[in-house]
Amino acid sequence: MQTTRKRIHSAENSELALIEIRDVDKIYDLGEVKVEALRNASLTLEEGEYVALIGASGSGKSTLMNILGSLDKPTNGTYLLAGEEVSNMSRDERAKIRNERIGFVFQNFNLLARTPAIENVELPLLYSGSTESKKLAREMLERVGVGDRAHHHPNQLSGGQQQRVAIARALVNNPSILLADEPTGNLDTKTSHDMMQLFKQLNEENGITIILVTHERDVAQFANRWIVLRDGNIVADTRDFSEALIALETRLM
Ligand code: ADP
Ligand code: MG
Repeated sequence: MQTTRKRIHSAENSELALIEIRDVDKIYDLGEVKVEALRNASLTLEEGEYVALIGASGSGKSTLMNILGSLDKPTNGTYLLAGEEVSNMSRDERAKIRNERIGFVFQNFNLLARTPAIENVELPLLYSGSTESKKLAREMLERVGVGDRAHHHPNQLSGGQQQRVAIARALVNNPSILLADEPTGNLDTKTSHDMMQLFKQLNEENGITIILVTHERDVAQFANRWIVLRDGNIVADTRDFSEALIALETRLM
């Protein structure tokens, strides 16, 4: 028994979890009121997982995602990203680790309006000083299925195409983690479905770890692990979708 425990322990040490948060609280202090947006959250994510954060509006999904993406700091608790403690880092240090490891996709695409698709995708590379940025940006647009739209401006693209450009931009720095907050929130059902196929492909074929925030059941079902939030608490962490739905109270989705 003792030996087995030891072996498991050393295996954990040699293969560090990609992300580990322990006892994380996030309290927004608004002076008169304090909002406890996240309470005592602990979770471990391994490389290559596809996790959905689900829950009703206001349950703390974006708060948790912002902490996982090191966009925001926990009020209490610890956060290890590939073994490095992020909670104590300066803003600049967090920006650096974020640039190297994480790509973000949002509901409203966040593309620069007066800028062609290819230049939107190139942007993160210009910060990191890559010499082959045009070529890489084009390859990435092709990989997400909009290679033929490289010189279109966002307003000349459909919602789904704009989101593909945003995904290309998120992935062009070759991050190991893709964080997506309600990425299908502004897309119709068919386009949402296509987007989820793309996520699945990026996860299965390219090994990208995906953390997806959604309140849509149809979208959530593409993941293979579900973290259910309610009132700032993680109420379930499961690989069984039906279990997640029960924890969620199906009527909320
Ligand atoms: P979700 O993404 O699940 O809809 P959020 O994480 O955005 O939920 O919000 C969780 C709770 O924290 C909500 O009660 C929300 O009003 C509050 N909240 C979120 N961001 C802030 C903020 N910047 N300042 C104060 N309260 C916030
Ligand atoms: Mg949200």
